[in-house]
Amino acid sequence: MAVTLPGAEDHAVDVAANLRAVQARIERACLEAGRPASSVRLLPVTKTKPAALIDQALAAGHHVFGENTVQELAQKAAHYAGRDDVRWALIGHLQTNKARDAARHASEFHALASVRLAEELQRRLEAVDRTLEVWIQVNSSGETTKFGLPPEQVTSFARALAPFDRLVPRGLMTLAVDSDDRAAVSACFAKIQELQRDLRDQQVLGCGWDDLSMGMSGDLELAISHGATTVRIGTAIFGGRG
Ligand SMILES: *Cc1c(COP(=O)(O)O)cnc(C)c1O
Repeated sequence: MAVTLPGAEDHAVDVAANLRAVQARIERACLEAGRPASSVRLLPVTKTKPAALIDQALAAGHHVFGENTVQELAQKAAHYAGRDDVRWALIGHLQTNKARDAARHASEFHALASVRLAEELQRRLEAVDRTLEVWIQVNSSGETTKFGLPPEQVTSFARALAPFDRLVPRGLMTLAVDSDDRAAVSACFAKIQELQRDLRDQQVLGCGWDDLSMGMSGDLELAISHGATTVRIGTAIFGGRG
């Protein structure tokens, strides 16, 4: 009887080759958008994937990895504890009562959308004397299943972050509608670019809101054409998640 070890299929994944292919997609999209390839950061998303695959990405020169739950992020951070060249980006929703683990283990948080959570993160970050780079998550599709602020609340929310000096605002994050309709996906990304312009025009918090975290395996080209500077890529690098 054949025995399949859990996750055995993962070892067949050639992470370095997949990273090269994704990087080539990024470069082509940048060329078409008239942007330098260096203006887009590839953030590998390792959720549900084992350390063996993360090790391959590390060997290929990547040092920041995205996870969508703080539980899994904390587990993986513990696995790599003591390695100061590995950092973690929490890219999914965070409950206020789990702010402590995020404050301890995450360097980036891409899904900030509540002042109460900002307060709690500030308190927890002070306790461990750390800072956290944050992106405001925007619900650009209007779908009720998605987290994030409605676009019209983003500017006032951004202003409300002023007291939290442990949170370093980097920009905006969104998930576009999951659809084959390119126009609908584009509209989501265009909205984020427009919000970025508003924040800059009004000089909110006096920072540039320079980073737009948007684009995944299926829509990174469209995101880059609308100004994405961080693309969060899982499937195209590490394979499907079953
Ligand atoms: C899983 C995930 C991604 C990566 O999605 P892929 O389609 O696998 O590239 C990006 N962003 C968030 C918030 C995710 O949860």
